[in-house]
Amino acid sequence: MSRERLYLFDTTLRDGAQTNGVDFTLADKLTIARMLDELGVDYIEAGYPGANPTDTNFFAEKRPMHAQVTAFGMTRRPGRSTSNDPGLAAVLAAEADAICFVAKSSDYHVRVALETTEEENLASIRDSVRAAKAKGREVLLDCEHFFDGYKANPDYALACAKAAYDEGARWVVLCDTNGGTLPHEVEKIVGEVCKQIPGDHVGIHAHNDTEQAVANSFAAVRAGARQIQGTLNGLGERCGNANLVSIIPTLKLKAEFTDKFDIGVSDAALGHIAHVSHALDDLLNRAADRHAPYVGESAFATKAGIHASAIMKDPATYEHVAPETVGNKRKLLVSDQSGRSNLLAELDRIGFAVDKDDPRLSRLLDEVKEREAIGYAYETADASFELLARRLLGKVPRYFDVEQFDVSVEQRINAKGERVTVSMAVVKVRVGEELLISAAEGNGPVNALDLALRKDLGKYQSFITGLELTDYRVRILNAGTEAVTRVLIESADESGDRWTTIGVSSNIIDASFQALMDSIVYKLIKSGAPA
Ligand SMILES: [Zn+2]
Repeated sequence: MSRERLYLFDTTLRDGAQTNGVDFTLADKLTIARMLDELGVDYIEAGYPGANPTDTNFFAEKRPMHAQVTAFGMTRRPGRSTSNDPGLAAVLAAEADAICFVAKSSDYHVRVALETTEEENLASIRDSVRAAKAKGREVLLDCEHFFDGYKANPDYALACAKAAYDEGARWVVLCDTNGGTLPHEVEKIVGEVCKQIPGDHVGIHAHNDTEQAVANSFAAVRAGARQIQGTLNGLGERCGNANLVSIIPTLKLKAEFTDKFDIGVSDAALGHIAHVSHALDDLLNRAADRHAPYVGESAFATKAGIHASAIMKDPATYEHVAPETVGNKRKLLVSDQSGRSNLLAELDRIGFAVDKDDPRLSRLLDEVKEREAIGYAYETADASFELLARRLLGKVPRYFDVEQFDVSVEQRINAKGERVTVSMAVVKVRVGEELLISAAEGNGPVNALDLALRKDLGKYQSFITGLELTDYRVRILNAGTEAVTRVLIESADESGDRWTTIGVSSNIIDASFQALMDSIVYKLIKSGAPA
């Protein structure tokens, strides 16, 4: 049986741009568009020309891509002609392959929000589709509030969709704008729509307000829809849109879909999807969601010893797909619950061949347990665990020594009469025979210490230039009688790799210093710096 084509429409740059705290520059948009194009989505909705300078600039010139570069806009305003509507004119003028119009498809919204008649709304849909087709664009219609509208007045909701389809729109997209529709309702309603409009012209646009946007998208496909709209990492207003980073692997790896459908994403591109997801987080300066399906750091992490020993025999025992297929990796957590099998497997992954009866193994296990009792958590701090193991096996060179550091925090009134807090760090480092002194100012004591530490490492400086700190987390723990501070630092480098290091102390600067040092030493080892 030949497989049907299922189309992916990404709206990270339009709907996703409406996320709280997200503000894409033109350069950001171009970077993300290229990433999406390499991933293999069919449509990239890049913005709303005329609505703001960034989006207008994006569409000011042709952006050659494999994907259909899509401009978003409203259908003509009620009571105007298509030739006398500046908003529509900006969308029609955009250098885009396709235009996605949004129109209301609920009689309630037409009356209350649009303050026009049902017939005028239908005429606006027909006129706008016709105008865009006359400009040679492929046309899509996002039917806003479709599911809520359909429940109240199915004939009118359907009439809106039919108006666009009959006028030659390539796709009518059914939107769950408020995100409250449940999967069984989506399946039923999409099934009814597909009796009137062929499913290979029907799309789904689901919001995640009941945490079911992904499930709703699949429900629509089961009922006949052949286009899925979504965003990277589920970015989007309120609770977000359907997450393409979860949808794509499911379409590529689950028999229910692979047996029936082809999508534009290749196996090789699927192998980069974890990277794509993290690259977007980096660009947004956000910490990646550790528990994200398929791509999260914990998605293939196993803690309990008995699971770990089974996974070593056959990974399929506790994994629903192989982590490599989505560019992730298996992680056997080394923690106070872990047995020797986790430890052995983790050492094996790092590349140390240690015999299971090696006495150093027991010492390492004891060391991990002792440290976890005072607040360390190696299951998150993979790089610090690797260093601990390497140290016990005698495999960490002494690259440099920090002989002394001094961190100060000063609050004062500046020249403008404002109260400011300034942090300053001075670090004395010995690298071989060389004694190096660096000073730096930072927006806080840890930032100043980090900047000073990484400012000058003499002959090792070139090995750490790509190192950057991407996340810093602090927790106060009650270990025994006194409170201690646990610091976790996430770092990344030019290759896109990321790792986490840990420090624990009653003093937050001390704890941070340990984690910073581990990160730098880890990077030196990783970069192959000579001892
Ligand atoms: Zn939306």
